[in-house]
Amino acid sequence: MRDTQGQYNSAVRIVKTLRNGGFEAFFAGGWVRDRVMGAPSPSDIDVATSAAPADVRRLFGRTVGVGEQFGVMLVLDGGISFEVATFRADVGVGDGRHPESVVYTDAENDALRRDFTVNGMFYDPEIGEVIDYVGGRADIDGRLIKAIGDPEQRFREDYLRMLRAVRFAARFNFDIDGRTLEAIRANAHRINAISAERIYAEMSKMLTGPNSNTSIELLHGAGLLKHLLPEVENLRGVEQPAQFHPEGDVFVHTVKALSLLPENPSLALAWAALLHDIGKPATKSVADRIRFNNHNVVGARMSINALKRLRAPNALVDTVAAMVENHMNFMNVSKMRLSTLKKFLSRETIRDELALHRIDCLSSHGDLENYRFVEEKLSGFKAEQIKPKPFVTGRDLIELGLTPGPAFGRILSAVYDLQLEEKVASREEALKTMHGMLNNRDK
Ligand code: ATP
Ligand code: MG
Repeated sequence: MRDTQGQYNSAVRIVKTLRNGGFEAFFAGGWVRDRVMGAPSPSDIDVATSAAPADVRRLFGRTVGVGEQFGVMLVLDGGISFEVATFRADVGVGDGRHPESVVYTDAENDALRRDFTVNGMFYDPEIGEVIDYVGGRADIDGRLIKAIGDPEQRFREDYLRMLRAVRFAARFNFDIDGRTLEAIRANAHRINAISAERIYAEMSKMLTGPNSNTSIELLHGAGLLKHLLPEVENLRGVEQPAQFHPEGDVFVHTVKALSLLPENPSLALAWAALLHDIGKPATKSVADRIRFNNHNVVGARMSINALKRLRAPNALVDTVAAMVENHMNFMNVSKMRLSTLKKFLSRETIRDELALHRIDCLSSHGDLENYRFVEEKLSGFKAEQIKPKPFVTGRDLIELGLTPGPAFGRILSAVYDLQLEEKVASREEALKTMHGMLNNRDK
C-alpha cells in the first residue's frame, strides 16, 4: 500500500518550501479531484507552482529534470518523488503532454490548459481550500466529464483526451457532457493520429482500472472502438448458442467478462479478458449448432496483430496470445493424463489463465466445475510434484553409450512423462526404464 499520510506530509513540505522561496504553489490535478469527491485512496499528489524549473532545482536538494523544457521537474522527498510543474500554457500542442513549447503563466491559465473541469482544480494545503477557476466542483456534483473550454479545439490539440474522457467517465461512473461527447463523436476517426504507444498506455489504464466494462461500452458508443480495436467492435451481433451463452452475443459476453475482473488485475489478464474471443466472428459456422471451431488459435493470432499494432511490449503480446490460445483447454482438464495436466499447470501464466477461465464461465453458463478442479489441483500438488527435477538427464544417456540426436529428446521426454505420471518413483527406476527403452529400440 502507498503511504498516503507520508505522501501528504512530503507534498505539504514541498509547497511550504516553494512559498518560503517567494513563489505560489498548490496541489493540482487528480489528487484535488479525488479529494473533492471524497475518494478513499486519492491519486498521486502533483504540485503546480509559479517557480520556474531553475528555481525548483535551487530550492530542493534532490531534483530530476524529467520534462524540464515543459516546466516539469521531479522533486524527491522522503523517498517519494513528486511532479512539480511550473504554471504554463501550452503552445503548438502536438500531443498535449508534450507541446512544441510552453510559456510560463499564472495559476488560472495553467488550469485552462488542463483537459477536463474535474481535473482543473487546485488545492491550498495550508488553508485547506480548493481553488476552482473552471467549475470543476459543480461538474463533480453533476457527475460530468466536461472539457475545459471549446471541446472541439481541446480534442484537436490532443486526441488522447478523447480516451481520457472515456476512462474518467467509466472510472467515476460519470456521464460525458453533451458537447464534449459530440466533439468526441465528430473526431473519433482521428484517434489514430496519436502514437500507438500512447493509445496502448491509455487503454491499459482503462482495462486495469475500475469499470473497464463501461470503458469499452463508452468507446463503442462514442465511435472510437472501431478505430482502436475493430476486432472487438466486430464482436457485436455475433450470436452464440444460448445453452452456453445465455447472456447474449460475443460483445455482450466480453463486456460482462470485463465487469468480473478482480480489482487491480494484471495487465495480461485484463487484455486477455478483452481479446479472448476475438477469433469467434472469423470462425463461426452453423452445423448441429453454432460453432466457433479453433477460435482460440485464430484469436491468439489476431491478438498478436492487434497488440503489435498498438506497440505493446513483446512480453505482454506473448503472454496474452498464450492465454487466448489456451483458454479453451480448461474444458479438458479433468480428462487430461496426469503428465499433460502437470505440464498445463506448471506454465507461468496458469494463475492468470485460471482467473480468465473463471470470469469466462461466470459471464456465460456459470459452471465452475473445471475451475474448481484446477484450483484444487494447484493447491493440492506441491510445487515439486507439478514440476519435479528430472530423475535422468542427457548425461545418463551418454553414459549408456547413446550419441546425442533426435532420439535423445524423445527418450528423455518419455521418461519424464512417466515421472510426472508417478509411474517411476526414483532415479534407479528411471534409469532402468530408460535402459529398457534403449534395448527395445535396438531390437
Ligand atoms: P490519475 O488518477 O489517473 O493519475 P490524473 O488526473 O492525476 O488521474 P494524470 O495523467 O496524472 O491524471 O495527469 C495529471 C493532470 O494533468 C490531470 O489531472 C490534468 O489536469 C492534466 N493532464 C494530464 N494529461 C492531460 C492531457 N492530455 N491534456 C490536458 N491536461 C492533461
Ligand atoms: Mg495523476
